Amino acid sequence: MTPIQTQDYSIQFNSDCSTALNAYIKEQSFSNIFILVDSNTYSHCLPKFLEQLETSLTIEIIEIEAGEHHKNIETCLGVWQTLSDLRADRKSLMINLGGGVVTDLGGFVACTYQRGIKFINIPTTLLSMVDASIGGKNGVDLGSIKNQIGIIKTPNMVLIDTDYLNTLSSREMRSGLAEMLKHGLIHNELYYNKLSGLSNLTLEDLDQLIYDSVLIKKDIVEQDPTEQNLRKTLNFGHTLGHAIESFYLNHETKALLHGEAIAIGMILETYLSTALLGFPLEKALKIKENTIKVYGKVAIPKADLAPIMDLMRFDKKNEKGTINFVLLETIGKAKTNCVAPNELIINSFDFYNE
Ligand code: NAD
Repeated sequence: MTPIQTQDYSIQFNSDCSTALNAYIKEQSFSNIFILVDSNTYSHCLPKFLEQLETSLTIEIIEIEAGEHHKNIETCLGVWQTLSDLRADRKSLMINLGGGVVTDLGGFVACTYQRGIKFINIPTTLLSMVDASIGGKNGVDLGSIKNQIGIIKTPNMVLIDTDYLNTLSSREMRSGLAEMLKHGLIHNELYYNKLSGLSNLTLEDLDQLIYDSVLIKKDIVEQDPTEQNLRKTLNFGHTLGHAIESFYLNHETKALLHGEAIAIGMILETYLSTALLGFPLEKALKIKENTIKVYGKVAIPKADLAPIMDLMRFDKKNEKGTINFVLLETIGKAKTNCVAPNELIINSFDFYNE
């Protein structure tokens, strides 16, 4: 697959990954290499990665606990301290080998350690391949508020090897699919139809679909790297989705994966689109049917609505106290800065539940 060149870094695929990485390390004269993994990518992905790495530099492995609960400043403190203890310097390279938690947190640590060292993202989940590892958003959660602390700075390279997906659970695969569906809904109807028509994705189908999804995200980010307007469209489904994810984050049985929460958010925000932008109702019903077929339905009792809606206050698209949604005019065309009255938001949950 042809590498994708963005304005300031390249995204390599599959068999090209190791060649590109080894060449980059050779040409850069790094002082040493730090590989950040979580407890799962340590066992599932690190052995394969180390096999392909050709270097005589010292390699240190830093392992963090897996999961969203650990995407916080305490974990960063541990990683910063380890880097410091192991004498990482401005010429050290950080390689983030993992899902969105590792790439978001590792990117943030790299951007802030000694005011910034170079870092490479090697995404190992579907979600991080198509979304989290590209575009330069790095950060951590503050309590249950998602991505409240962070920085925008692009990685020096992204290596997408879909072989890593072989050990990923089907639930995590579905979570990643949600961001791909989002790319279709905001940018390309044909792509959405292709994705939602495939009931059992094979890894071969996936390679091309991942590539297309990365291209969509790259095109959007390049036109608006600092999220002044167009990049906000990538937040479709996220205003309500993030609030739902945050609300259930510590729930014993209802904790949702990021993509699962976004899938619900996309149904709710499609409903808002019908009411506010004239998005066709029959298409909204079809999107709801397709999405629920894949993700099932989560019971969201009426009593949870007020606290969920309250959490939308922390959405990063808000301006001067106004909650701004990204809504759809049609499939493939999103509109930013839309405001929805509370009654309509409540109705959107009825639409989801009925
Ligand atoms: P994750 O990193 O928690 O990974 C999901 C689970 O899969 C973890 O338990 C992980 O250990 C495990 N895992 C990873 N790779 C594996 C493999 N190859 N085999 C087996 N297990 C593996 O979560 P995620 O879904 O990858 O990412 C979600 C995060 O990404 C959220 O924090 C979200 O906010 C963030 N995100 C960021 C952006 C961005 O632009 N920066 C975009 C979307 C999402």
